[in-house]
Amino acid sequence: NPASIGRSGVGQIYQIHVLQSEGFNILHDLFPSLKDKLLNEYNIRLYSLKNYGKFVINGNLLKQNLTKDIEWLGIDRFTLETAMRKELCLQFGNQIEWITNARVVELIADRSANVVHGTKYRLKDSSSSLEIYGNFIIDCTGRNTSSTKWLKESLNLIVPTVQMHFGCGYVTFVGERFKTGDSSLDSKPIYFSNANVPDNNTGCYISPVRTIKSTDENSLGILSTIAVNCVNAEYPPNDSYENLLDWVKEHLDRDFPVILNSTKLCSPLVSHHRAIDDRKYVESLGKKWPRNYIL
Ligand SMILES: Cc1cc2nc3c(=O)[nH]c(=O)nc-3n(C[C@H](O)[C@H](O)[C@H](O)COP(=O)(O)OP(=O)(O)OC[C@H]3O[C@@H](n4cnc5c(N)ncnc54)[C@H](O)[C@@H]3O)c2cc1C
Repeated sequence: NPASIGRSGVGQIYQIHVLQSEGFNILHDLFPSLKDKLLNEYNIRLYSLKNYGKFVINGNLLKQNLTKDIEWLGIDRFTLETAMRKELCLQFGNQIEWITNARVVELIADRSANVVHGTKYRLKDSSSSLEIYGNFIIDCTGRNTSSTKWLKESLNLIVPTVQMHFGCGYVTFVGERFKTGDSSLDSKPIYFSNANVPDNNTGCYISPVRTIKSTDENSLGILSTIAVNCVNAEYPPNDSYENLLDWVKEHLDRDFPVILNSTKLCSPLVSHHRAIDDRKYVESLGKKWPRNYIL
């Protein structure tokens, strides 16, 4: 439950997340000891994409002869966030003020200067409003941001938006993979087949998140996050693994039912639906955009 770690607004925290290698390089520059800690304290592994990855993009198998190998961090978002927060506190703890259980409710702005000076916020279980000021105000409240409402209220600025209907759905779970009898599948801890409208509306993504020691000789010794995905509102079911398997058999390439049949479910089937998104055309506002506000 994301609320248990103070992340109730981040429903996607248990969905599959992949950290691209350049993102990992940036994290490594910022937190030089993070990599060693992840490898030694959390049983995380780095995987060579040349040797351990298989990617099918719009039905086409990508060639594995990469000119340069890429390291893939086999980790889940929950663990990475937890480890990163610890590093952030260790390195910059005395420069950060954490205000938790707080909700931003409006901007403090100066209309004539077109500047946002700060925000008003409320603490949980309190109706009184508090204020915080800064030179830069960065809205990090995610894709359900109220920025469009706040900017309208405080600066009379209307952000043009277009609703995108894309019927995106995920069911993610953690599973222990076992041998399928097909070595071309068992040798690939990372296996992605993407969904992409309009021709290819379903996908599956498998990425290792932990190495484990198992006494079962058929275990591949890895826990993986596995996500089954659609982009046409034909949402994969999450009421039972059997029903999910039936859906996978019907909608995905045969490799995936084979792998999922040989996977032991180790978590709930966590579903995520996103039928509509609001695309915000911020750039079209030019200089009308407040100078020190970042969305
Ligand atoms: C199924 C799925 C798979 C994804 N896979 C990937 C992936 O593989 N790689 C990748 O890079 N990205 C992926 N993403 C996208 C990624 O999850 C988001 O881009 C990312 O979480 C956005 O981070 P954020 O910090 O902007 O917002 P969030 O992580 O959503 O955080 C927003 C925070 O703001 C808080 N908040 C909201 N309103 C207020 C308010 N008024 N006052 C105070 N706080 C507020 C919320 O409680 C929350 O804590 C995926 C998303 C989904 C749904």
